[in-house]
Amino acid sequence: MNHDVIVLGAGLAGLAAARDLAAGGADVLVVEARDRVGGRVEQTELPDGRLVQLGGEVVGRAHTAYLDLAAELGLTLVPSYVAEPGALTRATPEGVSAGDPPHWFGPADDACHQKATAAFRALAQTVDPADPWSHPDATALDRSSVGDWLRAQGATPAVVRLWEIGQLALADGSYERTSLLAALRKHAAVPGPGAYDYEAWEGLRVAEGSATVALRMAAALRGRIRTGAPVRAVTVRRPGHCSVR
Ligand SMILES: Cc1cc2nc3c(=O)[nH]c(=O)nc-3n(C[C@H](O)[C@H](O)[C@H](O)COP(=O)(O)OP(=O)(O)OC[C@H]3O[C@@H](n4cnc5c(N)ncnc54)[C@H](O)[C@@H]3O)c2cc1C
Repeated sequence: MNHDVIVLGAGLAGLAAARDLAAGGADVLVVEARDRVGGRVEQTELPDGRLVQLGGEVVGRAHTAYLDLAAELGLTLVPSYVAEPGALTRATPEGVSAGDPPHWFGPADDACHQKATAAFRALAQTVDPADPWSHPDATALDRSSVGDWLRAQGATPAVVRLWEIGQLALADGSYERTSLLAALRKHAAVPGPGAYDYEAWEGLRVAEGSATVALRMAAALRGRIRTGAPVRAVTVRRPGHCSVR
């Protein structure tokens, strides 16, 4: 079968791309390995009818494209756990603590954390979020991981651990493999009081279930999605022509 565009993967990215392409008049087919759409967003229903999210769930006012998409799909954004009373609780093998500083901090660690946060915020102010590569040190900033930068700032292992735990809690990959330029750009786009603003990035969720975003896009693409179809190979035959197996 021939198509103008074949999209590999029916996660949020693939579905959104296919939706835009179809709206633009392209003949598009989405090919998904699993037997369901959604990728890393998925939900299940409890016997009493409540929906439980099994993957990505929270967003925030910083996710402007997602908020526009949810509105287009007729979905409702409501406050997330961030609005609930109580403090952020951290649990590690050696203890549990609510609020700051975390239980593994020693006497000097909090001051070190504040210093690193201030340095990160100041550096972020030098990055244009709309054009991060225009920064005179863009290549060096991109080559450095956030972890390496923290250690170069004199951050203690306890401080590096706090930043890393926060990052891993986002299912976002380790700060040891995250480009400093990317992290600075993210902060520059949505400046906040700390290195990460929970309200801006996690303050909202879709009332109908976050995975419903994927399901609604898929419903609109009906007939254009093939599930249970892992792509084994993509062969470029000549410019503008490729085959997908
Ligand atoms: C537990 C967890 C919690 C998270 N919480 C949040 C959160 O609260 N807020 C937030 O914003 N983000 C969160 N995330 C991250 C968010 O879910 C992802 O960033 C997002 O869903 C990624 O979408 P994607 O379309 O880029 O990729 P994916 O969702 O990974 O989609 C890729 C798709 O491609 C398919 N695929 C891969 N290889 C092939 C192949 N060869 N052939 C055919 N198909 C293939 C996969 O099966 C998959 O369906 C969380 C993630 C996890 C795992």
